[in-house]
Formats: sequence, C-alpha cells, structure tokens
Amino acid sequence: MSQHEHVRVAVIGSGFGGLGAAVRLRREGVTDFVVLERADSVGGTWRDNSYPGCACDVPSHLYSFSFAPNPDWPRTFSGQRHIRAYLERVADTFGLRPHLRLNHEVTLARWDEDELRWELETAHGATFTADVVVSAGGPLSDPKIPAIPGLETFPGKVFHSARWDHDYDLRGKRVAVIGTGASAIQVVPAIQPEVAKLTLFQRTPPWVMPRADRAISAAERWLHRKVPVTGAVRRQLLWGIRELQVQAFTKRPNELGVVESIAKANMAKAIKDPALRAKLTPSYRIGCKRILLSSAYYPALAQPNVDVVAAGLTEVRGSTLVGADGTETEVDAIVFGTGFHVTDMPIAQRVVGVGGTTLAEAWKGGMEALRGATAAGFPNWMTVIGPNTGLGNSSMILMIESQLNYLADYLKALDALAAPGERVALDPKPAAVGAWNDRVQERMKRTVWNTGGCTSWYLDANGRNTTIWPGTTTEFRKATREVRLVEYDVLRPDRARAAETVKEAAL
Ligand code: NAP
Repeated sequence: MSQHEHVRVAVIGSGFGGLGAAVRLRREGVTDFVVLERADSVGGTWRDNSYPGCACDVPSHLYSFSFAPNPDWPRTFSGQRHIRAYLERVADTFGLRPHLRLNHEVTLARWDEDELRWELETAHGATFTADVVVSAGGPLSDPKIPAIPGLETFPGKVFHSARWDHDYDLRGKRVAVIGTGASAIQVVPAIQPEVAKLTLFQRTPPWVMPRADRAISAAERWLHRKVPVTGAVRRQLLWGIRELQVQAFTKRPNELGVVESIAKANMAKAIKDPALRAKLTPSYRIGCKRILLSSAYYPALAQPNVDVVAAGLTEVRGSTLVGADGTETEVDAIVFGTGFHVTDMPIAQRVVGVGGTTLAEAWKGGMEALRGATAAGFPNWMTVIGPNTGLGNSSMILMIESQLNYLADYLKALDALAAPGERVALDPKPAAVGAWNDRVQERMKRTVWNTGGCTSWYLDANGRNTTIWPGTTTEFRKATREVRLVEYDVLRPDRARAAETVKEAAL
C-alpha cells in the first residue's frame, strides 16, 4: 500500500550528518520531520564499512558530537563497532527512532515550483513532500569499483571494502587488495596473518604516519564520567592541535617536509628491504593525499606472504590479475579498496530542481554550493558535507555541526519571512554561489592538495578541488553561523518563478 506524508523537513541519510541534523531539529523545536534511510539501520559509513581493521583515524573524543560526549570510548582511535554503537545510542538518547524511515531509499526528489516544496519518492513505495530537504547521504557512501577490462571473467570472489562479505572465508586464500587508501591500509594488516598470499596493487604509495592508538584506561574513563569537563578539555586539546596544523596545509606546504621524515622513519623501522622501501616511498608532498595513520601497515607488508605490485590493476584474465607493469598474479579473491563516488555522487542524478535541471547536470562543471550547503536552482535543498567542506586533518563532526548551525538559522529565516500559513523558499543567487566558490578556489591555489604533486579523490574530473575546505574549522564555523539573506532569492507561492530579493536590512 502506498503511503504519503507531508513534513516540514525530510532528512536523507542517518549517518553522523543525518542523525546530527535530526537532533538539531528536535532541539530547535521542529518535530515534523522524517529521516529517510536506505538501509535497515542507522550509522551511514560506519554501518557500511565493517571490513576487518576498520577504525577511525581521528581520535574518538574529537570524532563524536559535542552535544553527545562519550566518556566510555575504549580506545584513543576507536573501532567501527564502537562508533556504530555510539550512533545507535545517539538515535535512542535523543528520541530519533519515531522519525526514522528505514529501508526508504530516495529514488527521486523533484522540486514543485508551484507548491514550493520537494516531492520525494522512495524505493519502499512511500512518498513524501517536504518544505526543506537536508541531504546527508554523505560523500563516502557509494563505493567505486573501477571498470577493469575482463573483471567479469574472474571466477573467484570480488567485493569492495565498504561491502565486506563476512560469509566469505579468506583463510588460506590468495587475495589481491586493490588500492592503498585509508581503507586498504587498514584491511591489509588485518587480513595478512590469515591469508595464504596477499598481493597489494599499489598505483600510488601513500604517506603513512605511526598511529598512537592505545586503550583508554578505566581510570581515564571513570574521570570523564564523573567529571565531564575533563572529557571536554581532552576534546579541546585534540581540536586545538589540529587547528594549529591547518596553515601548513593551506598556506605553507613546504613546512610539511618535517612530517615526511617521521613517515619515512615509520617505514624504515619495519621495511628493511631497500627495494621494497623504494617502491613504498611517495614522490609527492605529504598531505596532498590524505595522510594515513597506521603502525601495522608496513610491518604487514614486510611479511613473506605479501607482495607489493607497484602498479595499478589494468586487466583481469580469468583468475589472473594483470598490473600496469605487465606482472601477472593468480588469485582467489579480489578486495577493492578503491574508494567512493565523491565528486560524482549518484544521488545528484535523482535530484531535480528548478526547470527540471538535475543536480548532476548543474554540477557537471564541478560541484558548487553556497557555504558548502545550498545550490542555485535547488531551493530549500541543503547538503550536509556539501562541496568544499571536507577536512584533511581534523574531525568532520566539527564541520557537520557548523552546517547544522546554518540549517537552524535557515529554518528561522524561513519562519521569519513567511506570512502565517504561507510557504516560502530560499534559492541561493548564482552570483553569491559564484562569489563564495571563487573565494574558496582562490584560497585553494596555495594549498598542499592543489600544489603537492598528486592526484586524489579531492579533485574532480576537471582537476578542480571541490571537496576540501581550505581553512580552519573556526573560519568555517564563523562563515556558517547565520544565513545572509542578501545571498538568497526569496520565492513566494503566488510568484514562485519571479524571485524577490529581500535585503538583509529589511528583516
Ligand atoms: P581512496 O582514498 O579513494 O583510495 C582509493 C585507492 O584505490 C587509491 O589508492 C587509488 O590509487 C586506488 N586505485 C583506484 N583504482 C585502482 C587501480 N585500477 N589499481 C590500483 N589501485 C587503484 O579510498 P578509501 O581508502 O576507501 O578512502 C576514502 C576516504 O574514506 C579516505 O580518504 C577517508 O577520508 C575515508 N576513510 C577514513 C577512514 C578513517 O580511518 N577515518 C578509514 C577509511 C576511509 P591512486 O592513489 O593512485 O588514485
């Protein structure tokens, strides 16, 4: 039976972004909202990524909501299981369950220009209309498997790190891991002891720093429980250190050379074979790609059952994998640690804005949003972790919370603009979006992500960095504290198509 519901806000996704939005809505007194989740439980990327060794490389006391501190984090860098459980607890503690619509993948979102609201269709069959949509599907949600010629001829097991097949027993198997990003370098040491042979296809070597992971003692946890301010201080210190590092990434990449020597020492400690060390040594500035943290990766690569093919996987012929260097390796299983559709998010094809333009079409020259949130021609559509909100060195939860401040102010602005019973919408002016993005791209020019001599998922197909925020988290917090109405056209029902510009001063 098909069901229909109208809500003030529809949130898409129930990872950190979606659950954070839901908590914030409730705190703002908005209870008329749903959270549409495609899976059967909450957790987003921390539900989907259950690969062996999966853990966060940002310390747990910083990688958690400021409004939901967890004194009981078991490790300085907690594992996926604990982070997922934390998000489940957030859903319970903040009363979010009644708002959740699980197994409701959004298949189409269409802007109704007459009614000034979004129409949403879901795979479940239920449809919704919403005044505002908060798109919190996240950039790391749709796994990417490269189109490798002959992959369909492979007779063995194939899966992506974010869709781990726990029913498949890797013990005693010859396994290829493709890729050397943050996911693969956690998978490798976790599976190396049990597989017969592990072949790592490394297209580009990563910089890997040691990870100072340890159990958080019972005494520390007791202290954080009994004296919560101690947990807050711990968080502030973790944040402050990272905030001070930002300038090196954004303005003075040469300073990062010092960090390269620590990473090289991390490698030299474990890799005694000079030929292997040469293969594993990057030739670009550290920080250009995400700096990886692991004290177990290099020791695993030094084991006799591991081979590193210093080339990309280019072809599959039956059970033989062919590297770009011409090497051939026979394997039983392939694990793709090849990342996600970040700058070509599939959801963008399903979002249809003003004039029937999809978000994918609007973004074909590169993703662009005002203050990382709103896109011209997509009124009342807000993306959490939108364009240029990513971080290279700190916790994304800080950025998410800044965006939630913006969301709260956005809803207040809509309320203030609407006459009783009237529905209004805000559409960012193309000039405002352009000006914001010009400023972002200008700052980007000097950053390590653009000058460091590498390619990465931070850059789109045109070589433009549309993912990373080129500043401090404090600057972003300030930029998203409030909605500036001069940056928006206000749409009203009687003349929805004729945008009315409202001056900030008029409020
Ligand atoms: P990723 O960083 O995009 O890495 C993909 C890897 O696949 C790269 O090494 C890439 O090589 C390689 N690749 C692609 N095609 C290949 C081919 N044909 N042959 C060989 N290699 C190929 O993906 P990810 O590791 O899943 O990480 C994505 C992001 O998720 C991270 O940057 C991070 O933000 C997040 N993450 C975080 C954690 C955490 O601890 N918090 C853990 C996992 C992931 P090139 O380098 O040459 O392109």
